[in-house]
Amino acid sequence: MSDATIPTAIAIDGPAASGKTTIGQMLAQHLDYLLLDTGSMYRAATYAALEAGLDLEDETAVVELTAKLRITIADVTEAKRDGRRYTVYLNDEDVTWGLRSPQVDAHVSLVSSYSGVRQILVERQRQMAEERLVVMVGRDIGTVVLPDAALKLYIVASADERARRRHQERLVRGSDSDYEAILADVIRRDEIDGNRTHSPMRPAEDAVMIDTTGRTPEQILAEILALPVLMSIKDSAR
Ligand code: C5P
Repeated sequence: MSDATIPTAIAIDGPAASGKTTIGQMLAQHLDYLLLDTGSMYRAATYAALEAGLDLEDETAVVELTAKLRITIADVTEAKRDGRRYTVYLNDEDVTWGLRSPQVDAHVSLVSSYSGVRQILVERQRQMAEERLVVMVGRDIGTVVLPDAALKLYIVASADERARRRHQERLVRGSDSDYEAILADVIRRDEIDGNRTHSPMRPAEDAVMIDTTGRTPEQILAEILALPVLMSIKDSAR
């Protein structure tokens, strides 16, 4: 097999809590790729703007702040093993769990709708994909960030199931959780993410659609690994 058939990057998109990060992490481990969850970068910009006390409707101020941020996504070290999939540093502060707060959930789609914020973060995402083999997870990876990715997946699940998963994750971590509020947030974010002017969430024309409703991550991983392009990667690694 020629190297040309090996994807250098894998793009995974889909709505909130569809299972895309779980699948992305399993795939990254299987292939020894880096998992890059771009949602965490939009969340970090939102977190920083909230911490700075900015008016989040002030697009110019939010974009200016985003340009100054140093966001680092690192593998989980032994000392930090607490259920996280990766560690996010904002400048030098570990903000991994802070990024998951209801306040960040409530404002992240507004911050992500600003074209200046997207320009800055997309540029950084592309740089990271040039440096490492990545499984990149987000909303616009297959359409905008990495349109040449050789494999694009678009992962969906019913809104009920997605809210149930988020609710469970919060309870397991011992955080307060309200199923109805999470369901409303997931539906609201899909609405904003899917209808914004800049890089709306949608499947790339050549994306493989995967519905995770009622299925285990293991079943889904097996389906993905059986795709011809991934069979080729596995063959080449033997
Ligand atoms: O994936 P996650 O739920 O962490 O993403 C948080 C938010 O970040 C999304 O609701 C969306 O508004 C934004 N986002 C985006 N583009 C991406 C990844 C996330 O606009 N590539």
